[in-house]
Amino acid sequence: MNISLLSQWFARLLAPSLLSLVITFLVATAILYEQHESKKQLQHHDLKLQSKQLAEWLDTNFSIINNILLEVKPQNSACNQQSLFELRSLMFNIAPVVEIGLVDRAGVLTCTSWQKHDDLILVEKPPKRYGLRFSGPLTMKYMQQPAFVLARTLSDGSEVNALVRLSWLRNQLKNKTSELGFVALINSDTGFPVISDGHYSMPVSNHFLPIDEEQLVADKFANRRLQVASYSPLKTLPELSIVVSEEQQILKINENNFSALWYITVIGLWGILTLLLYHLYAYLSDSSHQLKSAIRNREFINHYQPIIRSADKKIIGAEVLMRWQHPVEGIKSPVTFIPEAQEKGLLNQMTLNQLTLCEQELTAIFKLNPEFILTVNISLCHLQSTEMVNTLIRFSKKVPHLVLELTEDVLIDTDHQFIQDAFKQLTEAGIKIAIDDFGTGYCGLSYLSKLPVTYLKADKSFVASIGTDAMNADVLKLITQFSKRMNFITIAEGVETIEQARALDDQGVELHQGWLYSKAASAGLLQAMIEENDVEFH
Ligand code: CA
Ligand code: CA
Repeated sequence: MNISLLSQWFARLLAPSLLSLVITFLVATAILYEQHESKKQLQHHDLKLQSKQLAEWLDTNFSIINNILLEVKPQNSACNQQSLFELRSLMFNIAPVVEIGLVDRAGVLTCTSWQKHDDLILVEKPPKRYGLRFSGPLTMKYMQQPAFVLARTLSDGSEVNALVRLSWLRNQLKNKTSELGFVALINSDTGFPVISDGHYSMPVSNHFLPIDEEQLVADKFANRRLQVASYSPLKTLPELSIVVSEEQQILKINENNFSALWYITVIGLWGILTLLLYHLYAYLSDSSHQLKSAIRNREFINHYQPIIRSADKKIIGAEVLMRWQHPVEGIKSPVTFIPEAQEKGLLNQMTLNQLTLCEQELTAIFKLNPEFILTVNISLCHLQSTEMVNTLIRFSKKVPHLVLELTEDVLIDTDHQFIQDAFKQLTEAGIKIAIDDFGTGYCGLSYLSKLPVTYLKADKSFVASIGTDAMNADVLKLITQFSKRMNFITIAEGVETIEQARALDDQGVELHQGWLYSKAASAGLLQAMIEENDVEFH
């Protein structure tokens, strides 16, 4: 492979590889985004589950403690042997509680499960609010360590409370999050932590307060980090909530997302896409597939340009012309597709189809007019095909008068044996030859002596010159005189005005084609015109 071929190949590969690079990038980004989203969902789900489970666990324990407190009666404040025994046995049933205490209506701690207190230990006056409540963590002077207190006001206005070990609570909150997260038991109204593990922080916006139902907050926190937190209020103590929080940063794409397999997949995808696009591009840039599919879909139809006998304005024949009935672009003229069809070697097949169509469409016309002339445009490629020559011969048996129109440029190679042979076979079958667009070729006239020519079709440019271009009008005169001298029949193409028709009549040119009489028409229209003998001047 030489350098220029190599660079051509690279140039052809450049667009598909760039496009597939973009597609691969988009796909990879979409996958990463999807991964990120599902991780986020998973993280949110995990946080919700953890905060809910912790809240449920606390509720279970708090309701056990609540039930114990409900068993304490005002008379226990007597703090005698009997009531101390009762308090201790109650306390021993619940591990987290280190002490049960009794406070009188004035706020004096009178008795604990440990002992009777004779020295005046003033704590807070019990509120007149029934039901479980909490306070703390507060440092009990007499115990010298912080405690979390659960309390109830009894029917006589005194209070029973349980001191819960903070270490027990702490242990339950530990190790629930990564190093960047935190867990806390917080005040549902203020958000302040009663006890926490990790670096506790609150969302910058306090719209999450008060916490009266489970909620998830993903926001900027006071620690200036993006955190997501799940809040679950306790059922036994709605003033308290559990919060479990993680930093959102840990979800960010990092090098852990890019394993070797990831790189191999992405590069593989890029390679495969490049190849696919390369082939697609090659396929699309080769328009012959359009022609092939048009042949398959029978999109090529026949139009017939009538040949008029000027003396009586009768249609005595027609030239069959190919049209492409394009599904999107509408009817397309042969100049837009014949050269390519010829180049891609598709013209023979198209002409074979054309002949089959002629046979189907013109049977009725042949019956109406047993002398009907049908002219078919033929190129060099047709003559090179034995199948085509044989088909033309078979076809000629069904057509009263078959004429092949050859352009002068096709006739340059008339010396070739295969052309001679083809013409021999064709003329022996009674097929006539016409020279199309006569006077426009550049190949001299020697072929006229070698071929059995019957018709000369004077090119429409000469007809158009009548009355306008003296020089070309003279050439037309020469052509008609020459044709007469050689015993050829002249057909004038492109007759558009009555003046042109009259001038041609004057020169003895009897057969006319052109818009003056009719445009190329469908078989049905042609048949109607023949039946009504109706060729109107336009
Ligand atoms: Ca023609
Ligand atoms: Ca012509």
